[in-house]
Amino acid sequence: MTDTPSRAIGRKSISATLKPRELMTDTPLLAGAWTAQIITLFPQAFPGALGESLTGRALQDGLWQLQTYDLRAHGIGKHRNVDDTPAGGGAGMVLRADVLEAAILEARSTAKGIMPLVYLSPRGRRFDQTMARNWARMDGVTLLCGRFEGVDERVIDHFGITEVSLGDFVLTGGEIAAQAMIDATVRLLPGVLGNAESAVEESHSGGLLEHPQYTKPALWQGRPIPEVLMSGNHAKIAAWRRAMSEQITAQRRPDLWAAYKAKDAT
Ligand code: SAH
Repeated sequence: MTDTPSRAIGRKSISATLKPRELMTDTPLLAGAWTAQIITLFPQAFPGALGESLTGRALQDGLWQLQTYDLRAHGIGKHRNVDDTPAGGGAGMVLRADVLEAAILEARSTAKGIMPLVYLSPRGRRFDQTMARNWARMDGVTLLCGRFEGVDERVIDHFGITEVSLGDFVLTGGEIAAQAMIDATVRLLPGVLGNAESAVEESHSGGLLEHPQYTKPALWQGRPIPEVLMSGNHAKIAAWRRAMSEQITAQRRPDLWAAYKAKDAT
């Protein structure tokens, strides 16, 4: 936490030469751009992987923006304490309600339009493609990243916070979960994926998992690319891909397969 990059305040326009890290400012840059607000003890963890490749380019191009809110800045006293021992005893530390409140109010004061307030939590509803699609239709999202044993429950009740989980496992903090969810959402925003990376036919978009993909060389380790893909017959290729999608989904994810069949029947 030594040399935190300096932040520009009140920058009017962004240039493509800026690094994604420098595009994260304390003030909104672009009215109307989809906005991820992150409340965290580790703002330097952002944009992280989101600064690379398609999401990074989209951040530079202003298709979305990222604002971090440092919990430490709202800490109590000389040592800027943000946590304390759990009431009733037990292991670990809990993030203080008053500290969280100050950070949440700071973030919400700059939130524009419809932006759900979400606490990343293993107790939450599991994140999925449908949730990513819903978030992409909104103006952004405010994500509260917990650490230690989590947050004081009263904050969740007071602000009516929705809890969302990345999956049935426990992380040490919400930052990686936040990046995963933002990545899944941002790539659905108009203009983020090029034509080559269509979100229309991939896994989880139509209720099926994706078919296998191949590229050069045509023969590798004695394994050829399936002949149909080399045939140039687009109708046959589409039918093969569809059949493979169905087969893989049925084999690997009986739950998705059942839902898909039920939808087909109606
Ligand atoms: N004591 C808590 C876990 C705390 S883990 C419990 O048993 O429920 C510390 C922080 O990591 C949490 O506050 C949360 O923000 C984040 N986290 C852990 N697992 C997560 C998951 N599966 N999804 C999203 N966030 C998670």
